[in-house]
Amino acid sequence: MTAPTLSEPPTSPEAAPPLALDARQRAMLAEMGLGLGWLSTESSVSVPQSLVGEAPAAISTPLTTQKAPAATSAPSAPSTPDSLSPANHLDWEALQSSVAGCQACGLCQSRTSTVFGTGDPQARWMVVGEAPGEHEDQQGEPFVGQAGQLLDNMLKAMRLHRGATGPQGVFITNVLKCRPPSNRNPTPQEVLQCEPFLRRQVALVQPRVILALGRFAAQSLLQQSLPEVATLPLGKLRGQVHHYQGVPVVVSYHPAYLLRAPEDKAKAWADLCLAMDLMPASA
Ligand code: URA
Repeated sequence: MTAPTLSEPPTSPEAAPPLALDARQRAMLAEMGLGLGWLSTESSVSVPQSLVGEAPAAISTPLTTQKAPAATSAPSAPSTPDSLSPANHLDWEALQSSVAGCQACGLCQSRTSTVFGTGDPQARWMVVGEAPGEHEDQQGEPFVGQAGQLLDNMLKAMRLHRGATGPQGVFITNVLKCRPPSNRNPTPQEVLQCEPFLRRQVALVQPRVILALGRFAAQSLLQQSLPEVATLPLGKLRGQVHHYQGVPVVVSYHPAYLLRAPEDKAKAWADLCLAMDLMPASA
């Protein structure tokens, strides 16, 4: 399955159609490093129909979204039967309490606070990051540092907001609910220990689309359906549709990585477009 590629730059200025984005969306794309000039003249980045809105027919063709590639990994049941998962029968509040009191691994000794997640528990969108960093550990909320600002701008470009409910709502969480000391990578054991919390969050939120940001989110969500996930570079995981508990998953770059490698923001935008294409219009 090939990843959606950004098409070749247009050969003439006439070939680049005006984008049917409003000023706010243009500003948000600019925040992501996808300035309008770049979008309209140097490369043709696809724009999801949901953002294009009522574009005139004449310009709608060049702006049509790439068709979501067919799933490479069929939805599969988790290997641990749900009935054996200790978090399986918890409601939202009990799950929050369970995370807050968790002592399943050594991270409980160094954390200031657990970071359960933020946003609408009934959101159509779910974003899964890696683990809390220093600021998140202090504030008990995911993605509040610099990477969080970029994530917020990515979400705004999708017309989503972490504080919103309804169609613009999103629930944001991490693979790990506690900060690894010195922001080291999560260990496989920690990912395994924390997975039942994420699994229950997905079961309760019932998102229509999950955005997995970074390789740890991808590994945690896809290890059942794609056992070789840990050996695959993120570039091989993005640009296609995976599944977790039957929910479509799009993998993309972590915002912290994008801050270091802004040249990959265009690919991230393509991933967000792919994810937006998966969202049912009436959901
Ligand atoms: N990076 C993450 O993956 N999650 C956070 O909450 C903050 C930074």
